[in-house]
Amino acid sequence: MATTTQAAPAAQTDLTDGFHVLVETLLKNHFERMYGVIGIPVTDVARIAQAKGIRYLGLRHESDAGNAAAAEGFITGKPGLYLTVSAPGFLNGIVPLKEATENGWPVIMMSGSSSRELIDLGEGDYEGMDQLNYAKPFAKAAYRVDKVEDIPLVVARAIRAACSGRPGGVYIDLPGDTLGQTIAKDAAEALLYEVNDPAPAQIPAQGIIDQAMEVLASAKKPLIYLGKGAAYAQCDEAVKQFVESTGAPYLAMSMAKGLLPDNHPQNAASARGMTMRNADVVVLLGARLNWMLNFGKGKAWNENVRFIQVDIDPTEIDNSRYIAAPVVGDLKSTVGMFNEYLAKKPYKADPAWLESIQADSAKNNARFGGAETATTVPMTHYNALGAIKKVTDANPDVYITNEGANALDDCRDIIDMYLPRHRLDCGTWGVMGVGLPYAIGAAATTGKPVISIHGDSAFGFDGMEVETICRYQLPITVVVLNNGGVYRGDFKNLGDDGDPSPLTLSALGHYEKLMEAFGGTGYYATTPEEVEKYVAAGVASGKPTMVCVELSIHSGKESGHITYLNPQPVTGPLVGNEQEDLAEHRENGKLVD
Ligand code: ADP
Repeated sequence: MATTTQAAPAAQTDLTDGFHVLVETLLKNHFERMYGVIGIPVTDVARIAQAKGIRYLGLRHESDAGNAAAAEGFITGKPGLYLTVSAPGFLNGIVPLKEATENGWPVIMMSGSSSRELIDLGEGDYEGMDQLNYAKPFAKAAYRVDKVEDIPLVVARAIRAACSGRPGGVYIDLPGDTLGQTIAKDAAEALLYEVNDPAPAQIPAQGIIDQAMEVLASAKKPLIYLGKGAAYAQCDEAVKQFVESTGAPYLAMSMAKGLLPDNHPQNAASARGMTMRNADVVVLLGARLNWMLNFGKGKAWNENVRFIQVDIDPTEIDNSRYIAAPVVGDLKSTVGMFNEYLAKKPYKADPAWLESIQADSAKNNARFGGAETATTVPMTHYNALGAIKKVTDANPDVYITNEGANALDDCRDIIDMYLPRHRLDCGTWGVMGVGLPYAIGAAATTGKPVISIHGDSAFGFDGMEVETICRYQLPITVVVLNNGGVYRGDFKNLGDDGDPSPLTLSALGHYEKLMEAFGGTGYYATTPEEVEKYVAAGVASGKPTMVCVELSIHSGKESGHITYLNPQPVTGPLVGNEQEDLAEHRENGKLVD
């Protein structure tokens, strides 16, 4: 009989497993937090992460976990991390992965999954699904790790894919049996490494910098447009220097607000329309010419406008129109090169251009400002937000998260931001369900106070996270602006079945009781003074707080500022007066009787 010599099996104490290798890899790459919803087969990823010093924040829905992680990605420039269970949890987690990719924010989603062979043979496993292939269209990159030895590599690839170039969402598929695989501890230790320079500088050629600055030099009425890509790039001083040295007016997209303080004399926000219609050269710093900027064409813009576009993604250039100076590079390097060029060959906009904008701004502020300070009740969005503005002006380092239709638009217009990356909202897709998770991500990442401002409809998408806020005792003040409906609360059922209209919600609901149910403080506000007092108290307390703000059901308009995107029905159930009534609603915000 032949005899074989086998190595003695490694003692259990010399072995480690996929769970531990994953957590050690995350630690090696300085992940400090993980958001998630646990269950089969990833519960022990969270438990071990927590045991090893990664803060685990368990949310109430995978979409919220993903959005909290995405907020961290935007604020820090490093990928946020979240964990989901297989199939249904995975699918819930895909929505924020796609949203982060649309926003250009770095995030890594890790999802447990079934054994390969069960999926590939379609044997019908518990929550079995071919997740990797479902993830691919929604992610910037997607990987599956089948061998424990490959875990450090897959994490490295995910980090690099998430934050290099235009950042985005990356998916890692974690089959349960990979997590359970064992490996000798010293072999695992030898595999760990920290990713070297995950978001390398992308330095544009000097020739295109010169070309861009020559276009700028020819401008009579320049405009600088700051987008969330500029905020993300974390080169705040260089951007400020560029804006101030040119003397050009600037406009900030919603999440670029605060990159320069909103009360900066060059801010053209109060004369946005007039500035866009007249500018002859526009410098786009990390802002896409997508729907939010009317695709860079049409009546919103001067018909002879020329664009200088700075973007890290070459495929963004000429997206919707001709670009006179396409500068492909990372913003930090690029704006630094602009500043060097201007130090040698200064350009200064004609002061009369900025003065005309400031005059228009003063006129508009005088015309509309009164609504913010009105004492009328029931309140409108304007005077409720005007009251909150008093608190944010007194606490300029507060983070604002914001979602809704009118609650979004009016908050963006009324509440000034003073610091970069302090405002997070519905973003490129205009989605709901982000306000509370962004608040959780911002509070967990920075420890700073957050005011999370929601319309009553938007709050319904993520409201259960109030429990999470209380469980982790996060310094978040939630504000629900309740006008009793989607857009507003006075729509009527156009049929005769007696149900509420499709847009109607509970006008006199006490949302603050949700906060009280989990041990936080709740307030109900019916006047601007109460709004200010209660929001200030929430911020000062640093504790979970909620203010339910009773608005008039007539406050707000359908679809907020983007009513024009609604197609108008010409046939179907809306006929005769009903159709006219609907049109009247949309245009004048009047009641249907
Ligand atoms: P906004 O909605 O504020 O207009 P967008 O999300 O539309 O902003 O545009 C942001 C742009 O910034 C994207 O096209 C993205 O590729 C770009 N971007 C992101 N990070 C950087 C960076 N570090 N340098 C240059 N461009 C960047």
